[in-house]
Amino acid sequence: MKIAIYPGSFDPVTLGHLDIINRASALFDKLIVVVMHNVSKKPIFSVEERKEFLRRTTKHIKGVEIDSFGGLLADYAAKQGACTIVKGLRAVSDFEYEFQMALTNRKLNPEVDTVFLMTSAEYMYLSSSMVKDIALHGGNVADFVPAEIESEIIARIRKDG
Ligand code: ADP
Repeated sequence: MKIAIYPGSFDPVTLGHLDIINRASALFDKLIVVVMHNVSKKPIFSVEERKEFLRRTTKHIKGVEIDSFGGLLADYAAKQGACTIVKGLRAVSDFEYEFQMALTNRKLNPEVDTVFLMTSAEYMYLSSSMVKDIALHGGNVADFVPAEIESEIIARIRKDG
């Protein structure tokens, strides 16, 4: 059984993330989307909210599970018996950081490799921070976030963002 993990902050999940989840789920028997909660970014949504958004928007995709973790990704991969870490790559600016992370994770756990999926062109500039910024300033995020969570995201960001 080929198990992969797709880590991120998902604060909140965007159509760019879902595109990667859809495509990665077709490559593995099981894809665990894992909300990492030890990242330095200050999230707006709680880990539980982020997991709930992910659950609702991926429930129709076969082989996808949602989890959260705070610690070393290499340890989490070992615990789950995962052979692969999936990451999405947008612009060249993502590359240096991701390259460093991939080499570090391989050093920490040589059994696990990192696989990069190129963004789809329409999501090239899409990030959770951009969604938060647009929503906070009253812009339209319909093209960027899943329809089933759009109004909740907007309401929450305008209230607490
Ligand atoms: P962000 O806050 O930048 O959206 P996350 O930590 O939530 O970042 O992202 C998790 C993973 O998803 C990372 O590997 C990131 O490169 C990837 N990703 C995020 N947005 C996109 C996108 N629009 N297209 C492809 N990959 C993406």
